Amino acid sequence: MDILNPATGAVIETVVADTETSIREKLAAAHTAQVAWAQTALETRVSIIARFRALLDEQADALAATQTAETGKPITQARNEILATGPRIDFFLQNIAEAMQPVPAATAAETGGTEEQVTYEPLGVVVNISAWNYPWFVGTNVYVPALLTGSAVLYKPSENSTLTGLHMARLMAEAGLPEGLFTPIVGGGEVGAALLDAPVDAVFFTGSHGTGVKVARAAASQLAHLQLELGGKDPLYVCDDVDVAAVAASAADGAFYNAGQSCCAVERIYVHQAIYDAFVEAFTAEVKGFVVGEPTEEGTYLGPLARGAQIPVLTGQVEDAVSKGARLCVEGGAADRPGHWFNPVVLADVNHTMDIMVEESFGPVIGIQKVTDDAEAVELMNDTRYGLTAAVFTPDRERAEGLLRTIKAGSVYWNCCDRVSPRMPWTGRGDSGVGSTLGLEGIRTFLVPRSWHLRAPA
Ligand code: NAD
Repeated sequence: MDILNPATGAVIETVVADTETSIREKLAAAHTAQVAWAQTALETRVSIIARFRALLDEQADALAATQTAETGKPITQARNEILATGPRIDFFLQNIAEAMQPVPAATAAETGGTEEQVTYEPLGVVVNISAWNYPWFVGTNVYVPALLTGSAVLYKPSENSTLTGLHMARLMAEAGLPEGLFTPIVGGGEVGAALLDAPVDAVFFTGSHGTGVKVARAAASQLAHLQLELGGKDPLYVCDDVDVAAVAASAADGAFYNAGQSCCAVERIYVHQAIYDAFVEAFTAEVKGFVVGEPTEEGTYLGPLARGAQIPVLTGQVEDAVSKGARLCVEGGAADRPGHWFNPVVLADVNHTMDIMVEESFGPVIGIQKVTDDAEAVELMNDTRYGLTAAVFTPDRERAEGLLRTIKAGSVYWNCCDRVSPRMPWTGRGDSGVGSTLGLEGIRTFLVPRSWHLRAPA
């Protein structure tokens, strides 16, 4: 399989993809290794993952260079992701013992003779099929708690972040993780599909809704535990009482960071009519100031897209909107150069008859729609099949919380956006997914309970 550099279109490296046979062999090794790993003391598992976490910091520059080369993510953003992965891992390291604690349910005295207790056990062999846009974040969210709780992991990186996935496996080995416990499976969608044909205990998937549905069907056929972290069409509402320039800057960053290729990127903006014109002007100026350029350069804010296939999708959304009356405030679009370049686009005067306001864009394009009041904003924000995040900007906390309570979303933001915390569950409603990672729930999802009924002889 060729690994391409999206900034140039050149082949960086060629790797050998997995086959049905190699997947079966790796799966068998994982099953064997997992049995011993589950018996290994928790302190040992914790110390190996802590070492992995330290290696991330030590090798951040080299790892960021690889990520930038294969995904086109600007080098500063790649480095930021890697350095911010450590604190996420720390949350797991600090909370794993508590999450695995047995829970007493009743004493023998309370039940008339039978003590009741719940203990927690690992899932077994976990398949993790992952996305490329934040490979370190979305990968470690799954495989770190899986390994800490005593499971083995077959990790399929996206075909767009394969070299990063292979680095993850190398670092796990350097950290002292025994063989068979974290095994990369290399390849594209067909390899992912083959992996799901094999008998596994759990499937954790991060990717698009369309692929998620296929993964769910495959997991259902073997009744594997299933979790899906899918896409979004995340809304942001700007009330009439804000500091327009400051909010325009936050919203533009929320929409265009990582070239808009974030599951929780701001994908649609609603602005109260009282400040609409001023906001569109400030937002446009902000986006025109972004530095688009070589992803390897420190000053670059926007690089190429990771996947060339997204260019016709984005072009189609922009053309559809313009044909229905949208106003082009920033007229970017596909650039005529080798690689996957698409300059930022800002559209105003959009509405929900346009694809750009209802379909996931996953790229550097955004629509801004005028609303008459809060009620219309809420109605439009909820007009979606997705439900990952939603943001409201206003100095008035009560107004924001009142609005956010009525919005269908797993995470809600007051005066911020595009933000994830390791301390709270990352979860979606509707087409944005099933289950959650991060927070204590994101550890417990890797555990299965065992109920003990214990009666001493009379
Ligand atoms: P994708 O669905 O194209 O691919 C994801 C993974 O699935 C890849 O590893 C791919 O090889 C694999 N795959 C493809 N077809 C398969 C099949 N039939 N069976 C098994 N595996 C298969 O998604 P992507 O382009 O890598 O990522 C972008 C999407 O991911 C966006 O929709 C984004 O919103 C979403 N995402 C969501 C979150 C979240 O936390 N909710 C995080 C990151 C990305």
